[in-house]
Amino acid sequence: MRNYCILPSPIVSLPVVGNVVGGDDRFPVRRIYCVGRNYADHVTEMGGDPNRSTPIFFTKSRETIVQSGATISYPPLTENLHFEVELVVAIAGNIDGKTEVFGYGVGLDMTRRDMQAAAKKGGKPWDMAKNFEDSAPCSAIMKASAAPDISAAAITLTNEGVVKQSSTLDKMIWSVDEIIAHLNKTVPLAAGDLIYTGTPEGVGSVVAGETLVGTIDGLPEIKVTYA
Ligand code: MN
Repeated sequence: MRNYCILPSPIVSLPVVGNVVGGDDRFPVRRIYCVGRNYADHVTEMGGDPNRSTPIFFTKSRETIVQSGATISYPPLTENLHFEVELVVAIAGNIDGKTEVFGYGVGLDMTRRDMQAAAKKGGKPWDMAKNFEDSAPCSAIMKASAAPDISAAAITLTNEGVVKQSSTLDKMIWSVDEIIAHLNKTVPLAAGDLIYTGTPEGVGSVVAGETLVGTIDGLPEIKVTYA
């Protein structure tokens, strides 16, 4: 036993569903990687050119995870908090040199859009626009062995029951396998990593009092309310 001079940070984890023995299994989260610009119509709505799009990656701290059902405080230093619904891929680890997928979930890549726009304009890092308290809500993780074929599944986000984002996963420019291959050339993926795989078009604002629900057909939903 080591004598830590302060209490170590708690382990961050998500519930697991599908083929679960006992029903209380948890997926412990290591790093969170996020893909930018992975749906052509979203690249366009952000002012980019989808024909010249290459995947970009950024990270969030695992402490930004929020479980479904939570009420979240509207974050400081923004007047334009945006939702981005995304397929989340949970990594089981590397077996015989191949990265294995543990399961899938639905996540919200919450973004302080005004802060991000100001940083982009000034050529400055926009980390704080993405990586802030409660900025990565995520559903339970469905084990890959129990999940249906989601390669062309519908993905939606509703705000107060009104559909704001609606697309299908086959519109991703970079597939899950391609994202994993690209990331592995950059950093070693490891057991516990989550990958937020990018959002389709229709991103928009949420204000206090509103409830967001993100869905992918066949997977558990993510639902959060802003206070
Ligand atoms: Mn995103």
